[in-house]
This record gives sequence, C-alpha cells and structure tokens, in this order.
Amino acid sequence: MKIRILGCGPSHGVPSLSRGFGECNPNEPKNIRSRTSALITTNSGENILIDTSPEVRLQLIQAQNKNIDAVIYTHSHYDHMGGANDLAGFLVDRKQKLPIYLTKNDYEEIKAHLHYLFRADSSPFEIHLIEPYQPFQIGKTIITPILQYHGLQKSMGYRIDDVAYSTDLCLMEPQGLELLKGIKTWILGVVSPTKPEILKGPQKHIYLDEALELISLIKPNSVFLTHMGQKMDYSRLSETLPENIRPCYDGLEIEI
Ligand SMILES: [Zn+2]
Repeated sequence: MKIRILGCGPSHGVPSLSRGFGECNPNEPKNIRSRTSALITTNSGENILIDTSPEVRLQLIQAQNKNIDAVIYTHSHYDHMGGANDLAGFLVDRKQKLPIYLTKNDYEEIKAHLHYLFRADSSPFEIHLIEPYQPFQIGKTIITPILQYHGLQKSMGYRIDDVAYSTDLCLMEPQGLELLKGIKTWILGVVSPTKPEILKGPQKHIYLDEALELISLIKPNSVFLTHMGQKMDYSRLSETLPENIRPCYDGLEIEI
C-alpha cells in the first residue's frame, strides 16, 4: 500500500491569511501546508482519494495521478470537500461516474453547498451512503468507517487493512478505539501542541499531548501527524517526537 499525503494543513492552511506561519519556520518548505487530503493506492491497486480539499486540483497535478477510483469523505467541512468542483473537472472524459462514499448527513451538507454537482441528470458522482462501523468495499479493498466526534459535528475515520486515517476528531467511542487495535500505521490529525486554556467553542481536534495518550493506547508501529496548524513546526516536531511519530509534509509518500 502507498499513501501520499496530498495536504497536511489545518482549515486555513499554513501560512494562513490571519496568522501567517505562526510559530512555524517560514524558511522550511515542509511548513507550507495545503488543506488535508490523501491518496491511497491499495495493495490491489485501487486509487482511493480521502477528501477533496480546496487545493485538490494542484495536489493531484503534483502527484501526477488522475486515476481516482473512488473518494471517501471524512466530513463536510469546507477544507475537506471544497475541491469537489475541480475534481469534477478531471472527470469530463470519464465514461463512468466516480463513486463517492460518505454519510447521509455529509451528503446532504455537501449537496447543499455544491448543488449543481449533484443534479440527477448530470452529476459526475455515484453516491454511496455509509454508516459508522459498517465496512464497505472498493474493488478488493475493505474499508471500515469509524465514528469520530469533531466539535458539534461528526466525522469518519477509516481503517484500511493495517492502516488507519483519523483526522478532525476530538473523541472516539470505545468501539472505534477497539477497531483501531492492531493497526501498524496511523495517519492522525493533530492541530496544535497543547490545548489553549480558553477554547472558542467546543473542542474540535485533539492536541499533541492527547494524541500521545491515544498512541500509547493503540500502539501502532508508526504514526504520521496531519492537519497541523501554525504552532506545529516541522523541524521542532521531528527533533522532539519519538522516532516512530513523524510530522507529515505535503507530498510525503508512505510505503507500507
Ligand atoms: Zn473539520
């Protein structure tokens, strides 16, 4: 299996319009982070895109891979679905519709934002509604969606063979944690090193200290941090984290 981290940035990217690079070294190219999405090439050869970030067009051009077999969505926040329109542009020469997998709630929300992409007579997408904890199949690959809490919203993490992809979460149910047992590689969304003393609104993401606790519970061989904000400097994290926990960067390819 190969995982290409297309983007590993937070909802407003790094640098962001409001905070620039924040505490990240602006001279380190690995601190330039587009919004979070990933491309998985499974052992049986399916190319599965996780989310269509607003930068998915450039991300896929850089990846030199337009052969997407399916998209699985983590949730309907703009930074995870905003590029769906550009993905549709990739599909004009495609004879079959592109299967997309998402919850009913996320489908309704994405459709409300991008209604013209979902007209019954012309939609480039074939909709597959998924349920938490109910495995589904793309080609020969079994994928298990894992319910996550993400502020007032819910999101889906995914387990694919020995790999899990979990971003935009602040909490998982015991059932979800149980499903992660035995994974070897974990792509985990961690927005910031520590929780601010005062949060604006409900907690949406886990912080590094909370992530380390989860990692010690699940015990994967290796962890790659994604969805990292302006306080997550690449070099500082690389130097201070244990060897088996690495920060991602845009374009990172992980061979498993
Ligand atoms: Zn989100």
